[in-house]
Amino acid sequence: MSRHPGPTRAQHLAVRILGRTAHHLTTTNPTPMTDGQRTHALNTAMDHVLHDEPSKFRRSAARRLALMAMPPIAGTTAEYADRLRAVAEAPVCCGRPMRSSDGQYVCGNCGAWVDPGVSGRSLVGSEC
Ligand SMILES: [Zn+2]
Repeated sequence: MSRHPGPTRAQHLAVRILGRTAHHLTTTNPTPMTDGQRTHALNTAMDHVLHDEPSKFRRSAARRLALMAMPPIAGTTAEYADRLRAVAEAPVCCGRPMRSSDGQYVCGNCGAWVDPGVSGRSLVGSEC
């Protein structure tokens, strides 16, 4: 089912999940990032953020958006948390966060780009 583009409540929830996951990863001293740590932090964040969301549809949509936005595992937990926060602040294009590249955000799907200095919009904001 596809609805009109524009920011959705699921995107708001996904942003909160990403921020919460980043927060969870920085509550302890930095260690090398692992798949297990990411899964644990993400599940904890999802439980916390989606606890009060009554719509099953929105819960699963927010989970999917957050998972899609997860950066590949690399570096330490602290570095990973920084990348998560950057993703949470990135503009959305083609229904997913744009990637940060050479000081600009680039859409991996359509190739559109924005200068972060110009666009103050984020995952909860713009859509192409
Ligand atoms: Zn795009």
